[in-house]
Amino acid sequence: MRVAIAEFFIAIGLNDKKIYGEYHVTDTTPVLEIRDLHKAYGQLEVIKGVDITAHKGDVVSLIGSSGSGKSTILRCANLLEDSQQGEILFQGEAVKWKGDGMARVPADAKQVLRIRTNLSMVFQQFNLWAHMTILQNVMEAPVTVLGRDKEEVEAKARLYLEKVGIGDKCDVYPAQLSGGQQQRAAIARGLCMEPQALLFDEPTSALDPELEQEVIKVIKSLAEEGRTMLIVTHDMKMAADISSHVVFLHQGLIEEEGAPDRLFGAPKSERLKQFLSSTVHV
Ligand code: ADP
Ligand code: MG
Repeated sequence: MRVAIAEFFIAIGLNDKKIYGEYHVTDTTPVLEIRDLHKAYGQLEVIKGVDITAHKGDVVSLIGSSGSGKSTILRCANLLEDSQQGEILFQGEAVKWKGDGMARVPADAKQVLRIRTNLSMVFQQFNLWAHMTILQNVMEAPVTVLGRDKEEVEAKARLYLEKVGIGDKCDVYPAQLSGGQQQRAAIARGLCMEPQALLFDEPTSALDPELEQEVIKVIKSLAEEGRTMLIVTHDMKMAADISSHVVFLHQGLIEEEGAPDRLFGAPKSERLKQFLSSTVHV
């Protein structure tokens, strides 16, 4: 099959290795793959062997009770937290480690930066810089971390702010915005990095119900655009609406996973049934 594809590109005059390479990365290699992840805080083992795969365009939702390990998995995935066992692969490239067990840390700082800058994280509490305007917030990382041209970044930042519906808020400070607007600014900031995937940690939990909807609408539009996303959420309606795959975590393990229709419509595990019946449906 691979040979056939290569021959096809050569036949139509596209024998550029780059195109051939991109074809394979795009279609067969997951953007993010977590294999047998284990993570402990001291004696407390919180992730006990978890596998998660997100191909390009997948929207994977992580659900489960508070303390089940959802945030920890996201933080391990973008290497904000160290983990003791298991592999994390970004576009097929495995994170290099040095040391073992509690002493295990990433071995290659450049690789960490490359992976982290390709996985934009959106937090529950927005984490915008209070002393910068919204436009400066969105421009900061592409300019200072990626070293991109300031004018180009500004043009993109304005576009992304427009896209999330706050194009008129470029010059105000975070404190002057509602929670929903701040979260949309944080999403624009994530998008301006032009990452391969977006990681959301309870993006609507800090918002009043009426402001939640405007953020959900933006996340939904990103899903429809085919962006690769990992979303930790307590919002089962959103998870059911936009996910391609849902993972239910219980005490650091995957208790059940599947397509949203099946998982929400016909849960198998008693724990998942219990969890779903205790969750408020909007
Ligand atoms: P969730 O996001 O599903 O609510 P977390 O991933 O935040 O769960 O937490 C999983 C477990 O790890 C919980 O028992 C929590 O108390 C513990 N935990 C999280 N962060 C830390 C930390 N920095 N130090 C010690 N324990 C932590
Ligand atoms: Mg959490």
